[in-house]
Amino acid sequence: MSLIVQKYGGTSVGSVERIESVAQRVMGWREQGHQVVVVVSAMSGETNRLMALAQDIQEQPVPRELDVLLSTGEQVTIALLSMALEKRGCAARSYTGHQVHIRTDSVHNKARIVDIDDKRIHKDLAQGRVVVVAGFQGMDETGNITTLGRGGSDTSAVALAAALKADECQIYTDVDGVYTTDPRVVPEARRLDHVTYEEMLEMASLGAKVLQIRSVEFASKYGVPLRVLSSFEDTGEDAGCTVAGTLISAEDAEMEQALISGIAFNRDEAKVTMLGVPDQPGVAHKILGPIADNNIEVDMIIQNIAEDATTDFTFTVHRNDYDKSLAIMQETAKKLGAREVTGDTKIVKVSIVGVGMRSHAGIASTMFETLATEGVNIRMISTSEIKISVVVDEKYLELSVRALHEAFGLDQSA
Ligand code: ASP
Ligand code: MG
Repeated sequence: MSLIVQKYGGTSVGSVERIESVAQRVMGWREQGHQVVVVVSAMSGETNRLMALAQDIQEQPVPRELDVLLSTGEQVTIALLSMALEKRGCAARSYTGHQVHIRTDSVHNKARIVDIDDKRIHKDLAQGRVVVVAGFQGMDETGNITTLGRGGSDTSAVALAAALKADECQIYTDVDGVYTTDPRVVPEARRLDHVTYEEMLEMASLGAKVLQIRSVEFASKYGVPLRVLSSFEDTGEDAGCTVAGTLISAEDAEMEQALISGIAFNRDEAKVTMLGVPDQPGVAHKILGPIADNNIEVDMIIQNIAEDATTDFTFTVHRNDYDKSLAIMQETAKKLGAREVTGDTKIVKVSIVGVGMRSHAGIASTMFETLATEGVNIRMISTSEIKISVVVDEKYLELSVRALHEAFGLDQSA
């Protein structure tokens, strides 16, 4: 017997039929003798609907009251799911965040969980109940309702799994796992059986939207094995006791590790270049300081080796920040006496991710060779221990991703 925490996202509880199907799946696990704690999101679209209501009254709603409002979405689904379980003869109890003491800090709308009292839940489990907990919400020290930021139910589930010392935290969603890359770009993309926390974090921050990043950080910190699975797959005879999906866990020396686990890409990049900047101490700070002061996040940065007394300085930002960045740079260029500012929004970032990179030389060279063979010009390069990213022209995105997917042996039939 094991203790499993399962989280069902908005689309998985998007209608009464979907909720009934979740109940069926939960029953399957119960019947196999497992203890189950279920965390649910609001029905899909509900949090947005509530948000819109608030904004009809106040463009920037009072954060405390917004949390009171937004947390109601999850209160609906915990009750409905518990009813669906009870109807099937499966004892169940629903709880809001504050009822099971999901204690958070007081940062409304993006609170962090600081503590969970697991006693009440353990008691219910010992009495044979399924415990259904509202995701996305908690309460602060003085009893105010808080929420954890959009997509926060993932984090609720992982935090509960950590507090209860669950054997596994299963995240049920509308895809059946984490893929080597976006199947819409590469039809040969495969579901991964296993990725490490680190790889998942890189992939998530590079744009793979399966899990809230914070939930992966949390899982990694507390060593909670996480599994992403589909709630839409037919449960069939063994009602839901499938354990496929993608397991996200710590690196395991026993496990055979692929060199590269996935190819991520991001279409939202833009680059800005300052040409002919005097090459002096403090220049990088003078260029990037005003950018940071405007809360613009910088991704890749390149400074060329100075050939004469000047250098070129290039960085990338989110496309939405492009116009503002360009304007700031033009100001800075005047102050520094730089020659010119140029920019480009028709660029994308393509990255290969894999912990196997650590122990293997030559991965970068395979990547560059593959792109060269396809005639793709690399504009920028950056690396970390388990990731290599390149910036290429937008028109080469699909070509680059497909070529790399094949070159690293990720294609389905490979
Ligand atoms: N209902 C919340 C949202 O839509 C939390 C979640 O779904 O994880 O962001
Ligand atoms: Mg959601």
